[in-house]
Amino acid sequence: MTVQPASAGEGQAAAGLPRVLVLATGGTIAGKADPRSAIGYDAGSATGQQLVEAVPGVDRLAHLQVEQISNIPSQDMNHKVWFRLVERINTAFARHEADAVVITHGTDTMEETAFFLDTVLHHEQPVILTGSMRPGSAISADGPANLYEAVKVAASPQARGRGVLVVLNDTIHAAHWVSKADSTALQTFVSRNAGPVGIVDPAAVRFYGPARVRLALPLPAGEQLPAVDVIYAHADMDGRQIDESVRAGVKGLVIAGMGDGNVSAPAMQALDRAVKAGLVIVRSSHVGDGFVNRNVEVDDDAHHFVASYDLNPQKARLLLQILLAGGVQDVAAVQQAFAFGY
Ligand code: GLU
Repeated sequence: MTVQPASAGEGQAAAGLPRVLVLATGGTIAGKADPRSAIGYDAGSATGQQLVEAVPGVDRLAHLQVEQISNIPSQDMNHKVWFRLVERINTAFARHEADAVVITHGTDTMEETAFFLDTVLHHEQPVILTGSMRPGSAISADGPANLYEAVKVAASPQARGRGVLVVLNDTIHAAHWVSKADSTALQTFVSRNAGPVGIVDPAAVRFYGPARVRLALPLPAGEQLPAVDVIYAHADMDGRQIDESVRAGVKGLVIAGMGDGNVSAPAMQALDRAVKAGLVIVRSSHVGDGFVNRNVEVDDDAHHFVASYDLNPQKARLLLQILLAGGVQDVAAVQQAFAFGY
C-alpha cells in the first residue's frame, strides 16, 4: 500500500478520497513483545508509519499522512503532548491540510486526552482516537482493525460535528462519556449512563442519534494547566491528603467520592478548610455509573462545593483545570459548566 502525504491546500477531489492526518502518540497499539516474559510487551515501540503500513486496505478509505507526536505508553500522557496535538490539529484544519484526524494512543488515558481535546477544539471535522488492548506482536492483535475502523469513521461524513470520538472494537464513543472499564479485555471502553454513540459494522458507520451539545472552552494560554488533585475516598478516610494538597498550593480538588460523591466527616472538615483557603472543590464519584447531583446528601450550597454530574474524577479534573486556566473560579460559574447540556 502507499501512504501518501497530503500537501497543504491539496483538494479532496483529486482521487475522491478524504485526507486523514494520523497523529501517533504511542500506547499498546504501538507495542512490541518483550522477551522478558510470555505476556510482557513494551508500549510505544512501533512508529505510526509502521502501524499504518500494517493495515491492509486502509489506503482505499483515505489518503493518509502520518506524523509522530510522541511514542509513549499513555500512563505517561501529559499536558505537553495535549498542547502539541491541539496545535497540530488546529494548523492542519486551518491550512486545509486534512479533512479529519486520527490519533493513535494508549487506552489507559485515552478518555482524558479525548475529553481535553473535545473541550478545547471547536472544529466540524472529525477527530478520532483509537488504540488497542493487544500489542501488534500478539495473536489476534486488535490494533490493525481498530486503526482501519478509526480511519473509516474519520472518513465518514456522518462523523462531522460530533466532536472528538473514540473508536475501538467496532464501537464509537463520545469523549464526554467514554471510559476504560476493563484492564485486559478487548471490549474495554464503555460510555457510562449514555451508551456508545454508534457502531462500525461491515457495511457502514452508523450513529444512533444526533450529536450531544458540547461545551466549547478556550484553549488555556501559555500551554499550562493549573494544579488540581484527585483524592480517592474510602472508609476510615481522614483529611490528611486534602490538607496536604492545600499545603502544596493546588488550585482545586476533585473528590473521587463514595456513592454519590461522599467523603467521611473528617474529610468534609478538611474540604471546608480547603474552600476557606480558596480552592474550588468538585465532588465526583468512583462508583462509575450515575450522577453526582447538588444538595442531595451533601449541602453543596452551604459548603460551596461543585457537583460533577456525570463526569468521572479524571475528566472532572480536566474540566476544572481548563476553567481555572480561563479565570473561571466562581463556584456558580464552575457548576454551570459541569451541568452544561443537562
Ligand atoms: N498502559 C498502556 C497504555 O495506555 C497500555 C494500555 C493500552 O494501550 O492498551 O499505553
